[in-house]
Amino acid sequence: MHALGLKCTSCEWSGDLNLRYECPLCGSPLEVFYDYDQVDRAKVDRALREYRGLWDFRELLPLRDSRHIVSLHEGGTPLIRSELPMKCQAFWKDETRNPTLSFKDRPNTVGISMAREQGFEEISIASTGNGGASLSAYAARAKMPCHVCVPESTPPGKVVQQMYHGASIVLCKGDYSDSYQHNRLLSQAHHWANMTSTYLNPFTMEGDKTIAYEIFSQLGRSVPDWIAVPLGAGAMLTGILKGFEELCLLGFADRLPRMMGVQAEGCAPIVDAWIRGEEHVNSWPRCSTIAGAIADPLTGYEKDGDRTLNSIHRSNGCGIRVRDEEILRAVRDLAAEDAMFVEPASASVAAAINQAVEKGLVKEQEVAVGILTAHGLKDVEQLAGKRKGTEI
Ligand SMILES: *Cc1c(COP(=O)(O)O)cnc(C)c1O
Ligand SMILES: [Zn+2]
Repeated sequence: MHALGLKCTSCEWSGDLNLRYECPLCGSPLEVFYDYDQVDRAKVDRALREYRGLWDFRELLPLRDSRHIVSLHEGGTPLIRSELPMKCQAFWKDETRNPTLSFKDRPNTVGISMAREQGFEEISIASTGNGGASLSAYAARAKMPCHVCVPESTPPGKVVQQMYHGASIVLCKGDYSDSYQHNRLLSQAHHWANMTSTYLNPFTMEGDKTIAYEIFSQLGRSVPDWIAVPLGAGAMLTGILKGFEELCLLGFADRLPRMMGVQAEGCAPIVDAWIRGEEHVNSWPRCSTIAGAIADPLTGYEKDGDRTLNSIHRSNGCGIRVRDEEILRAVRDLAAEDAMFVEPASASVAAAINQAVEKGLVKEQEVAVGILTAHGLKDVEQLAGKRKGTEI
């Protein structure tokens, strides 16, 4: 274990590994930093060859003692060559095959294991549904009480998943940001470890970054030209980039992929700022999209958007907005041609790669990996036309 502590992402503050949610000096998000000189390259090399799941990358994760691991065998998901006529070399990272059918199992297995290691007895999360469904399964495994705040508009499938795992659920009025604030206050008052998958919990992103190690390994130890990621606040995008940055630091990779941040046109605070060339992200007044899992208006934590924007810039990436019709077409194409059934938020990456090819951003010979973040059965009413999108 080579994590040295937490440090601020915008000022000089650093401290120990004890869970905190923001910089005590400037209020910015925190991140885990490591002593990379101490990392055993041979162990990482072996993990890149033989990993079966996320915890095989322990050498680059912040947990001290393996006995604290709470795992449901997450990670180790396939990378699949697309047969769609994409006009580039497209691959899908199939995160629907995680234990609770979304990539959220990666941030949560690290977050809950760290919470257990640090002596927390109860955990919580604000979620658009998948994060809560995932965390409640891990909480059941760990026998820890779990508190979830989700918007009232959350698809029933995701709520029922949480119910059966035994979470206590608060259905919050308003959009995701309202759930975020409500959960934050409750968690502070009760000393619950807050696992909200924005940049609030500094450990969860360490789970996201393992997606990078797997993609690198699956492409025969090469770095794709592009990685397309659906954005909530964007912790997954920044996490994947961090994974590649580490592979470069450790001498395995020699460049970074260009990160393509994808949002729905009806809720695009980060991509909007990217398109306008602005440095700061403004919150989105009124979300309206079928891609509920990524409908995050960022109200009250706009700084999270700035950090994601910075990751896109740092990787020479881009932001793409997709319309709901494009997303629905992508859901159909992925299911019919590539035999992959994903929820709208996930399909947005296929629509975005298509757009980026048309715009000349992605070239024909380039490799583009799209992260298919969650399964289509999670929001089946929507896809059956029985429920309207998130509309607040
Ligand atoms: C949470 C989620 C995202 C966004 O991930 P962030 O790390 O919050 O940006 C994308 N797709 C799905 C299906 C999700 O559940
Ligand atoms: Zn700071």
